[in-house]
Amino acid sequence: MTDPIAKLSFWGVRGSTPTVDPATWRYGGNTPCLELIAPDGTQFILDCGTGLRVLGSRWAAPSGGKAPETHILVTHYHWDHIQGISFFSPLYGENNEFHFYSFRSRFLGRDSLKQVFEAQMALPYFPVDMSAMNAKRKFKEMDGGDSFKVGENKITARWLNHPQGCLGFRIETPAGTVAYATDNEPGDPKLDEGLRKLAAGADIFINDAQFTPEQLKTTRKGWGHSSWLEGAKVARQTGAKTLVLFHHDPDSTDRMVDSLLRQAREEFDSVFAASEGMVITLGARDDRVQAHMPGTRTALRREAQFHAKVCGVTEGGKDFEEETMVRDISLQGALISLKHLPRLQSELQVTMEAPGMDGVQAMHLRGYVVRIDAGPEKGHVAVGVVFTD
Ligand SMILES: [Zn+2]
Ligand SMILES: [Zn+2]
Repeated sequence: MTDPIAKLSFWGVRGSTPTVDPATWRYGGNTPCLELIAPDGTQFILDCGTGLRVLGSRWAAPSGGKAPETHILVTHYHWDHIQGISFFSPLYGENNEFHFYSFRSRFLGRDSLKQVFEAQMALPYFPVDMSAMNAKRKFKEMDGGDSFKVGENKITARWLNHPQGCLGFRIETPAGTVAYATDNEPGDPKLDEGLRKLAAGADIFINDAQFTPEQLKTTRKGWGHSSWLEGAKVARQTGAKTLVLFHHDPDSTDRMVDSLLRQAREEFDSVFAASEGMVITLGARDDRVQAHMPGTRTALRREAQFHAKVCGVTEGGKDFEEETMVRDISLQGALISLKHLPRLQSELQVTMEAPGMDGVQAMHLRGYVVRIDAGPEKGHVAVGVVFTD
């Protein structure tokens, strides 16, 4: 018998507004959208930010048989969590069926989410109206504390502390539990308790990390967001296993997110910074949580032959140093074969020997581990790095 496996994909991780600044490309600029495929095939989509468009463009129509159900959980109605809806192409296919869940907003009343759909597609804001949306759509209202089952999976909602309200969701699957708590400011005792219930013992705890702990205390107090430090605290208190920093500020460059991640890893053992294209697998036998990152998306790659010395940190947190060959390089990064297993999203110092005017010269580069695959040589891993300077 094989173990049940769940797959969590990050399609959008940026908070507040999408970014196209090149300094944010590595973590990505699309607004929140996650996809969780449970072991029984049920598909959950968390939030409908611009990442939803990308998910829609990769939509795999089920071949024959009954289409798997798709359940879309919307945390709240701020733009960054709904602006992908009209651009989600599967909503225009008549064979598709979607179940939407969200809360009744006191500003909108009954059928809040349905009204949000209609308002977004009202003329003159969008060129086609709702009648073009041919997929079957069912809307269900949820309240904090509500819980329901889909197949073998249990979903629970809890209120979070955010202007105009926001729900956090906990999805328990046979392969593990994912807690999704974006757009939340700590400090309200009752809602903080709800957050802890959401995160309790979760395998993956995705938490709002938009601001620095200093900003949260001063200039960004009352804005409805959190920090890596709060996430690490809650993860420790509740026994959550892996913390994912989420809802990156649109003004946070990749370098800034790197630094938040570095600080979070000093406070809590297992932390990732949500990154567009990242996939986390839950329930695999030897490694309960596995993270994968997408390959460098656009870079022109060239085969190369450079001797290199690489220094970094292993998965287990130990420093290492080894000599190797770089065989594939682009202006943005390289693929390096290593005997050591470096930690995903950690920094590597790469010193390459390059032919120069006066013989061989050393080129010092700082790389950031974005991908780890089995290497072509036995006992080696192929490590994808992006150069940061
Ligand atoms: Zn948001
Ligand atoms: Zn919000």
